[in-house]
Amino acid sequence: MMNKQLRKAVIAGNWKMNKTPEETSALIAEIAPLAENAGCDVVVCVPYIDLHAALAATAGTNIRVGAQNCHWAGSGAFTGEVSAAMLAGMGVPYVIIGHSERRSLFGDSDGTVAKRTRAALDAGLIVILCVGEYIEQRELGITNEVVRLQTKVALKGVSEEELARVIIAYEPVWAIGTGLTATPGQANEVNHEIRVLVEELYGKTAADKLVVQYGGSMNAANAAELLAQEDIDGGLIGGASLKAADFGVIVKAASV
Ligand code: PEP
Repeated sequence: MMNKQLRKAVIAGNWKMNKTPEETSALIAEIAPLAENAGCDVVVCVPYIDLHAALAATAGTNIRVGAQNCHWAGSGAFTGEVSAAMLAGMGVPYVIIGHSERRSLFGDSDGTVAKRTRAALDAGLIVILCVGEYIEQRELGITNEVVRLQTKVALKGVSEEELARVIIAYEPVWAIGTGLTATPGQANEVNHEIRVLVEELYGKTAADKLVVQYGGSMNAANAAELLAQEDIDGGLIGGASLKAADFGVIVKAASV
């Protein structure tokens, strides 16, 4: 058996700061029939204020709901923040942590990403942990080192049992929202490196089971080729996740 067949692909939409609750219900109603027979897991990660509507609209479907960030503290004087425990308490199963927009625009660091990951796992959530290099780092030839470091810091203290609730999304920063996609070979190489690191840290069984997504301008036209790569087990989709038909094509491509 090829190792890839040990893993079920996960296609997750990152809606970023888009959609009102009403628009959320409408978009999920459009996506649901397209995802109905999916052979992969399907997740939509929506803004906090849309979580309630998303949970209601996905009830009885095979679509699951995620948030796009969480704070590391359980509660307290953190104006404007939302804790992992709050997400878990409302029945949200997934959370994206360490997205490059959180890192570059809102001061997230490898250290805070690790703290958020800890809190999310403690709360019982499934973490979609984002890692990826800047273009300058790729040009310097240090992509693998950067991604290994980000991954290693975030996984510090994560047990093998908890790792089963971690998905890693390799997202080269230069490919996010730019229309520039990593070639299937480039993406697969880094995804493979992440799996090698996880094997070093946790052993082969855990590494074989780890879902490693690719993200960065994945769309209806390029998804099939990316998803066919041995170490690409799904995708984190920004722009194309806001168009039901395109998202449906990507879900289908991950279902073969
Ligand atoms: C993302 O936001 O994680 C992402 C990959 O965005 P896009 O698909 O728009 O590049």
